[in-house]
Amino acid sequence: MPASTRIPFHRAAAGTVNPLGVHAGLWTAGWSHDEARFAIEGSAAAGFDLIEIPLIDPRSSDLLLTEALLEANGLDAVVSLALGVDSDINTDVSTPQGAASSARGEQLLLDAVEFARSIGAGYVGGVTFSAMTRYGHPATEAGRANSLAVLSRVAAVAAEAGILIGLEYVNRYESNLLNTAAQTREFIGELEARGAQNVLLHIDTFHVNGEELSQAAAVHDAGSALGYIHASENHRGQLGTGSNDWPGLFSALADTGYIGPITFESFSPAVVSAASRDDIGLWRTLWHDPTAVAAAGARFLRRQLAASDRLLSTTH
Ligand code: MN
Repeated sequence: MPASTRIPFHRAAAGTVNPLGVHAGLWTAGWSHDEARFAIEGSAAAGFDLIEIPLIDPRSSDLLLTEALLEANGLDAVVSLALGVDSDINTDVSTPQGAASSARGEQLLLDAVEFARSIGAGYVGGVTFSAMTRYGHPATEAGRANSLAVLSRVAAVAAEAGILIGLEYVNRYESNLLNTAAQTREFIGELEARGAQNVLLHIDTFHVNGEELSQAAAVHDAGSALGYIHASENHRGQLGTGSNDWPGLFSALADTGYIGPITFESFSPAVVSAASRDDIGLWRTLWHDPTAVAAAGARFLRRQLAASDRLLSTTH
């Protein structure tokens, strides 16, 4: 990825060195008018610059309302999705089932690009390269090759709309294809060789905690491909109350000159749908009040950024 490639923003996040985001799943399980309003107004009030909205079917949603709420609240948006076992592009398409699953996955990715375009979002990230599931076998050459082929086609469509695609590697229980920053960087290199210049590496500190040597090592392995971050505690609850090495992460981000978004990701069974709860294994309720958690999360991230700035200014 060219180092100058940044996710385009046009409201609060425009020109901000590290815009702060929050996942809509912290606020609400769905995207009705009331839910969209609650999530977008709450995110702006808590001090975030952008909200990450999970894919909604662009053919059956009132996207004008979402766009109007974003505009009224001065908030930017990005879009995310995770492919499922019935929409897996990390599969052997020489079988009829694999071909059908891959076709559904490719269509979902294209839907996500269209959704992003419709609401003025410049980024589609998440588990875009495989199903988010516990595979019962290692990744296969055929599955990996198909994932590369599909993503290169989707990236070409996204590029025409000025949209960047993110690959969020996840832990071994949620994919067999990309579990580390080094694997993801290599994968992005192969996409670049196929002409895709708009693919970013997306780090989630929750997954880093389970798979990498350290938070800092993940940032350094990602290098200039790093374009998006999920800040998520090791237990998925409130930031700063778990065992993640936040000073190590933020020092590495300052050292490498990271200028992309940092999005707070925390989920509670008190908020998310039963399907999302089951997808990510959210069995314990660590908090009940999204407004309080969002405000504290934004404060925590701003403190960490300020501390890493001070560290930089005393060592450089
Ligand atoms: Mn994540």
